[in-house]
Amino acid sequence: MSSIYERYQLRPVINASGRMTMLGVSTPAPEVTAAVAQGLGQYFEMKDLVDKTGDYIARLLEVEAATVVSCASAGIAQSVAAVIVRDDPRLLVNLHAQAVNGPREIVLPKGHNVNFGAPVGTMVALGGGRVVEAGWGNECSAAQLEAAVGPDTAAILYIKSHHALQKSVLSVAEAAEVARRRHVPLIVDAAAEEDLRAYYLQGADLVIYSGAKAIEGPTSGLVLGRRQYVEWVKLQSQGIGRAMKVGKEGILGLTCAIERYLKQDKESGAAMAERLQPFIAGLNQLAGVSARLVWDAAGRDIARAEIAFDAAASGLSAAAAATALKQGDIAIYFREYRANEGKLEVDARSVDAAQLEQISARIRRLLTGEQA
Ligand SMILES: *Cc1c(COP(=O)(O)O)cnc(C)c1O
Repeated sequence: MSSIYERYQLRPVINASGRMTMLGVSTPAPEVTAAVAQGLGQYFEMKDLVDKTGDYIARLLEVEAATVVSCASAGIAQSVAAVIVRDDPRLLVNLHAQAVNGPREIVLPKGHNVNFGAPVGTMVALGGGRVVEAGWGNECSAAQLEAAVGPDTAAILYIKSHHALQKSVLSVAEAAEVARRRHVPLIVDAAAEEDLRAYYLQGADLVIYSGAKAIEGPTSGLVLGRRQYVEWVKLQSQGIGRAMKVGKEGILGLTCAIERYLKQDKESGAAMAERLQPFIAGLNQLAGVSARLVWDAAGRDIARAEIAFDAAASGLSAAAAATALKQGDIAIYFREYRANEGKLEVDARSVDAAQLEQISARIRRLLTGEQA
């Protein structure tokens, strides 16, 4: 088989950046791609497929209810629409056109109003919601969140993510307490998180995951939570949800991937750290960079190599290195969130030892001025 890279003249990629939408997120296991193929090859009563796979996933996760959606962003939009529309049949098909009599404000900590590749606020607006920010750019306490909740609040939205403000922000459990006290639902966007039960157990009514990130499924999303809310999310397939339809292949692929995710021994952060040690030691032999092990800032069990570029000594900045290494026969992508501080990070989840060596060699050639 001629490779896809050759056929369409694409540049091969070494993905040292993690679960990145711009690089295709993850590479599901053969078992998962087989489930996708099986799904594509057959017809189903789709409502039955949605209901029964949802219940199956819910049993696996020991939560009340679950449903597969097309991606986490669609999960946010449909969850927002669900808490606004509920089961109002007229509003379901007129969310774009009709005045909403009930509440439609979605309250979230200001430091959670982030851009994950697209703005959270865009998904809220697609779902018919109006963003109301609580607290400040650098803080949001339970009291500050509660102060922003009023008669027009349809839900509280909490973004559990490395993209969001980490310091001086209330916890999911505290947000759930505020939600209970004020009788509004709590929606948690946990798109890239690894624990499929934690936020539900901490009191969220709806929790949203990306199917292709930690779970390593096909392009898809998972919404789980309290039965009534999940049923309202499912209703959205007759409203805005139709524009973000998930197919039988996504439903069956993600269901398989979840089952696998729960059974398989995931590589621990400690194992990643061990795998990264020779890479880090090798880089520390080079003049112009220094490397060390760092842990995920959002608290997930992920170890990464941080490479600090001494631009003053070598003339090579982190940003210039990142740009240069995307060129050439093989594009290497790092985590660049801290390039402005002179640092790139290597995420080991999608790279093997040989690729780590390739990365090391390319950095060495850049520093010594050999042709990269
Ligand atoms: C990735 C991400 C999303 C979007 O997930 P998709 O499945 O790509 O739509 C939403 N929120 C956060 C915090 C994310 O990290």
